[in-house]
Amino acid sequence: MDVAVIGAGLGGLLAGAALSREHDVQVFERLDLYGGRFANLPYKGFQLSTGAFHMIPHGPTGPLALLLKEVGAKVEIVRSQPEATWLTRDRQQVPFMGFRELLSPGAQLKIPLAMVKVMGQKKGTGADMVLNDPEMVRLADSACGWCLSTTAAGTPAAEIGAVLRNIQKYGMPGVPMGGCSGVVDALERTIKDNGGRVVLSTPVDAVKVEDGAATGVVAGGETVPADVVISDIGHKLTAGLYDQRYLEPKYAAVLDRVRPSAGIKICLAAEEPLVGHSGVLFTPFTQRVNGLNEVTHVDPSLAPPGMHLTMSHQAMLTGDVKKEIELGLQDLKTMFAGKKFSVLLVQSYRDDWPVNRVSSGYDLGNLTPVKGLFVVGDGAKGHGGIEVEGVALGVMSALDLIRKAY
Ligand code: FAD
Repeated sequence: MDVAVIGAGLGGLLAGAALSREHDVQVFERLDLYGGRFANLPYKGFQLSTGAFHMIPHGPTGPLALLLKEVGAKVEIVRSQPEATWLTRDRQQVPFMGFRELLSPGAQLKIPLAMVKVMGQKKGTGADMVLNDPEMVRLADSACGWCLSTTAAGTPAAEIGAVLRNIQKYGMPGVPMGGCSGVVDALERTIKDNGGRVVLSTPVDAVKVEDGAATGVVAGGETVPADVVISDIGHKLTAGLYDQRYLEPKYAAVLDRVRPSAGIKICLAAEEPLVGHSGVLFTPFTQRVNGLNEVTHVDPSLAPPGMHLTMSHQAMLTGDVKKEIELGLQDLKTMFAGKKFSVLLVQSYRDDWPVNRVSSGYDLGNLTPVKGLFVVGDGAKGHGGIEVEGVALGVMSALDLIRKAY
């Protein structure tokens, strides 16, 4: 088959690498670099990124690692050690499973009932799971903010339950050597080695449809015939690329309802370790920052010699981006008072360059109203898949659908 992929983000590259083993694959990317929000961004001797925190939520044993292995992309992923800690009010770190230390005796009494809800509740939100107890909601917000760029109250309980089951099944985070580009470089090489092409600076302007089925794309002004079209740009943008006669009203109504998740990343140049380990530091007692990581404990090449790259994340809680950034910067100043660091770059992510194209728990699956046109990426994550693990699960299900249909 001839396969055309719209967008060379992680989703498009994974799908392209898998299908290029048996099919003729061309991946079209509008930018002059591949990787989308999962690529390194060299800056002042540091390897920052176009989006992600150089971290893979389930490390070397998760869905992304498994899919990379399956397609033959060689990436070394090192498990974080410890996997995560919490920062207390008086700026001490406690182990992830020692979270009860962060709660008052009254809130601790509620833990057994909250545990039952966390493992079994299917309706309501993450905040309901922790009984809407303000202290426990703080911890849940920190975890949801870091992992999903959402709040506990904004995330369906069913999704959080599925995330927790995936953590039990696949384990906690890891860091790819070389950062995000370590992953996407390996995928691009795999596609090329299989005879496929990743074509940069070439936007797809339209998806061609005949009798309800995709027949190709218009890329860089030229019509490229294809038996299967895979889009890595989310359902909404994809729907804008084909004849609106095919946009079913029910599907259009769902597209109107879904929202991306927005967030802010602050990158710090640290002259001394601030987090002090390669896992996640959750920060429940801040105004905005949900957590931080310091991946240079695994891969020192991501910072100049002797320095650390420390990155914080916060879900964007209001539309006032300037104010949100200010609050985040204040948090970091308080948290690391007296430590030697400077702010390298502040990046905000929303609209068409968000943290997730569809907020976790509201993903739309791979199918579109057009036969032979499939969506992958973080607008079509698999259930319970945190970030790129969700992208990998979504790509796996798209590959299953394609194999069954053709
Ligand atoms: P994208 O990366 O957006 O790829 C889509 C590509 O399509 C882009 O390259 C775009 O330029 C291209 N494109 C768009 N329109 C067209 C067109 N018409 N024609 C051709 N090309 C087009 N995940 C993790 O697992 N770990 C993390 O540590 C992590 N941290 C994050 C931190 C931040 C601040 C952000 C923003 C995200 C983070 N994520 C993380 C999420 C992760 O980065 C994304 O889920 C993932 O990179 C999305 O990949 P994608 O392929 O779905 O989309």
